[in-house]
Amino acid sequence: MTSTPATDDPTAVTAHDLEVLAEQLGREPRGVVGIAARCVCGRPLVVRTAPRLPDGTPFPTTYYLTHPGAVAAASRLEADGVMKEMSDRLTQDEELAAAYGRAHEHYLARRAELGSVEEIEGISAGGMPTRVKCLHVLMGHALAAGPGVNPLGDEALERVRDQWRPDRCSC
Ligand SMILES: [Zn+2]
Repeated sequence: MTSTPATDDPTAVTAHDLEVLAEQLGREPRGVVGIAARCVCGRPLVVRTAPRLPDGTPFPTTYYLTHPGAVAAASRLEADGVMKEMSDRLTQDEELAAAYGRAHEHYLARRAELGSVEEIEGISAGGMPTRVKCLHVLMGHALAAGPGVNPLGDEALERVRDQWRPDRCSC
């Protein structure tokens, strides 16, 4: 029995990933524990971040969208007022609200794998479970988790498809 080399694990963080992340973010990435989603070219799209940063700051946004094209697309969608529209729908559509609640639970469960941080106990990100406050968070979650986990993240990805999509490299 041999163990799988770290390089075979697509979520493993390489030195090259850290360089790309610094370039994407315009600063040194902090608390990165994995690459949660990659572009078809291999560059990071979403990083998985520790729930407590090295300086001790609690960090609820476990899945952080880093790809500049995706970040810009999310920002444009936010500017179009989509967050208010989605938040309104959550108050009217029980099925959607239930699925969004499950997305919140999924987010917390995956974060708990990285350790528990008292200050952010029960708090996920992006406005979940009842509101939509950040489409970058929802898109990052949808890209990390795959389709069918975060309905509003999936929808946001669908709505920006003409500008940015994960299956086509625009790096
Ligand atoms: Zn790419």
